[in-house]
Amino acid sequence: MSTAARPAYFDRTHTDDLIAYLSAAPSPYHAVAASAERLEKAGFRQVRETDAWGAEAGGRYVVRGGALIAWYVPAGAGPETPFRVVGTHTDSPNLRVKPIPDTGAAGWRQVAVEIYGGVPLNTWLDRDLGISGRLALRDGTARLVLIDEALLRVPQLAIHLDRAVNEGLKLDKQRHLTPIWGIGEVTEGSLVAYVAERAGVPAEDVVGWDLMTHDVQPPCYLGKDRELLAGPRLDNLLSVHAGTAALAAVATEGGAGLPHIPVLAAFDHEETGSESDTGAQSPLLGNVLERSVYARGGTVEDRARALAGTVCLSSDMGHAVHPNYSERHEPGHRPMPNGGPILKVNVNNRYATDGLGRAVFAAACEKAGVPWQTFVSNNAMPCGTTIGPITAARLGITTVDCGIAALSMHSARELCGADDPYLLAGALKAFMEG
Ligand code: ZN
Repeated sequence: MSTAARPAYFDRTHTDDLIAYLSAAPSPYHAVAASAERLEKAGFRQVRETDAWGAEAGGRYVVRGGALIAWYVPAGAGPETPFRVVGTHTDSPNLRVKPIPDTGAAGWRQVAVEIYGGVPLNTWLDRDLGISGRLALRDGTARLVLIDEALLRVPQLAIHLDRAVNEGLKLDKQRHLTPIWGIGEVTEGSLVAYVAERAGVPAEDVVGWDLMTHDVQPPCYLGKDRELLAGPRLDNLLSVHAGTAALAAVATEGGAGLPHIPVLAAFDHEETGSESDTGAQSPLLGNVLERSVYARGGTVEDRARALAGTVCLSSDMGHAVHPNYSERHEPGHRPMPNGGPILKVNVNNRYATDGLGRAVFAAACEKAGVPWQTFVSNNAMPCGTTIGPITAARLGITTVDCGIAALSMHSARELCGADDPYLLAGALKAFMEG
């Protein structure tokens, strides 16, 4: 597809904003903050889980750590009004700072890291890494910190010292992934002292932290016609950003006559199995939906009616056909970048989609004027999974898995089509509108 032939639906404004979002969100906590900022601009207000919630119409959101649930109550919604939930996750595989981070060997200063999620380890070699996350302070508050500079690096062994490297790189997770960040003697407490200083808080006030590393190279358009997008954390911040944009658009366009209550659920810890108080296995989403019913004067019967009519569209990254490994893909189902969102199917329930779910997804794409594709894995390749089946099983609601076709999933730097984020946002918005 040449630039001249680019279809009318292409809107670079959305992808430009996604690039800004990815850069601002190297940690789940930052992703939540970046979504909250966009929702606030669309008139949403934060509510605390510890407060009583009112019945007024309008947009609200709850933040818990690296998770966010946002919803828009249209004027006239009853307690039995069903929800339209877009499900996503804020976390990505990466290298995270260990509790006693200061370490070193052979005259180098290093930072001890723990591997988070399914990391293709080689993709973290020879990248300039920054640090982000949150600091827990003595007064009980948390402070976000982002050092978006070349601070750390996991240096690959030179080929001269590893002549067999191209026959298969072997990396020991404990020994070979420790980043360097200087030369000289190791001083206990120096990493946290440095991060505290950069965050503008006294080091003695820092009593805990959740810190992680990220590649500081910014996302960019790629290819002769700039039709691709290269960047970190597309899995799954692309979907969180699209869901945020869709919900903000539904709310600002009035949403008064909506037959459903649109919801964005952005969970943490998908990459490690969703088993946490902010993951999809937690009661977080279910509690928000229930409380929303009860805030509008609903009964247990109303709750059951609302959930029975609720549908969740779970959006996460999927695999585009890889030109160098096309035999690994299912020959009849080969999603391409910029072909629109993909419907993900797996009869063994690694994805929650069924025939009726397909109809919901198709209707949303048709309403939005968005092309779409289908993904199913090659029978010889085990299929990944996502929050869709967990949400379906946990809440008993109809769930459909969809996403965007990408290459290099879970790499420190992934690749997808530059049109697809906008197309996905259009489909999610049409789904939320019902
Ligand atoms: Zn994912």
